[in-house]
Amino acid sequence: MQDFQYKNGSLYCENVSLSRIAEKVGTPFFVYSHQALRQQLRAYHEAFSDVPHLVAFAMKANANIAVLKLFSNEGGGADIVSAGELHRALVAGIDPQKLVFAGVGKTKREMAAALKAGILMFNIESSQELTALDETAKELGLKAPVALRVNPNVDPKTHPYISTGLKKSKFGIEITRAVSEYQLAAKLLNIDVVGIHSHIGSQLTEVQPFVDALALVSELIEVLRAKNFNILHWDIGGGLGITYDKENPPLPNELAKAILPLLKKSGCHIILEPGRSLTANAGALVTQVIYSKESDVKNFIVVDAGMNDLPRPSLYQAYHAMLPLVENHRPEKVVDVVGPICESGDFLAQDRALPQLLPGECLAVMSAGAYAFTMSSNYNARSRPPEILVHGDLFDVIRERETMEDLLRGEKIPDFLLR
Ligand SMILES: *Cc1c(COP(=O)(O)O)cnc(C)c1O
Repeated sequence: MQDFQYKNGSLYCENVSLSRIAEKVGTPFFVYSHQALRQQLRAYHEAFSDVPHLVAFAMKANANIAVLKLFSNEGGGADIVSAGELHRALVAGIDPQKLVFAGVGKTKREMAAALKAGILMFNIESSQELTALDETAKELGLKAPVALRVNPNVDPKTHPYISTGLKKSKFGIEITRAVSEYQLAAKLLNIDVVGIHSHIGSQLTEVQPFVDALALVSELIEVLRAKNFNILHWDIGGGLGITYDKENPPLPNELAKAILPLLKKSGCHIILEPGRSLTANAGALVTQVIYSKESDVKNFIVVDAGMNDLPRPSLYQAYHAMLPLVENHRPEKVVDVVGPICESGDFLAQDRALPQLLPGECLAVMSAGAYAFTMSSNYNARSRPPEILVHGDLFDVIRERETMEDLLRGEKIPDFLLR
């Protein structure tokens, strides 16, 4: 988080004071550091420079086209999970040959859009999906490049909602069934087998689950090659954790050190799909205190951002650090920081020690560059906040605050109700 720092008592992103942005655009808003984003991507490129590789940013973490363009300028690609994400990636100018398409529920329409765009490969999660892709490619007179997503049944030791590589998970194909699925793929005339994929979960704070999973996949690659399957691309997924509170996750170079021997031995082109670790700590959500209130058992600070803007605390009991925009040395109190939404689950922090804050003062909710804006909603008819990109001394609005017209777009009252 070195790109968010206090200078003379004010919290800055790079060389811009967050209070200055708040005055200009109002609150709440999301802010991202250009330098931090670029640095995180470069850390991956350096860590894996010994193998031919592609960093395909899992854009569900942060899909703003300016962020995608920044990564694209640095040689990055994207891991997409819908036609909407495909569209965004193409608008941002990402080379289609740097796109991989994941997800258990790709429709034929989405497959067709990706085939026409000429993406690098589809990560396929079931035999029905494989057949649907073959049919779609046939209708278009194309061949679909495919990797199968195998499920190595390794416990990533993370929150159950973001754990994806266990047998009971909806994701991937059980590793024990992989060979027969590859044999099915080989029989389909419009499918071109080019790779293998696994992704075991998110917010991983140890390297061992990666090593265990990739060792199993590595054995499978040898078995498949012995059966003459062409495994050119090995997509090792994403999932590296970040520091929200006191976690101490491995850095990209520590992950690389542990798995590079396996990757090199394969001779494959390696694809990585980091999401959170590229963007989470490059961003913050700035919110303003509206009121504080006390009951016999709790102290509350009511702020102008809620679960609709940042659902992670409500959804996963996630912890986000909070920093006042202006450093203050008033006595600390244990408070719940809650939003304006009409739900008891609408909180950004619970039982948090914070220095006293007065109405009108602002807080930065840290680590909000991933799974934050992309998970936001209009619940309670609230406009989604703007997104700001800081670059040195400058900042740009990379997404405007939604207007009342935006909130009504596409809706209409049918004639029969107007009679
Ligand atoms: C979500 C996801 C990722 C990214 O996970 P992070 O934990 O954000 O790195 C990568 N690959 C797939 C298939 C995913 O679903």
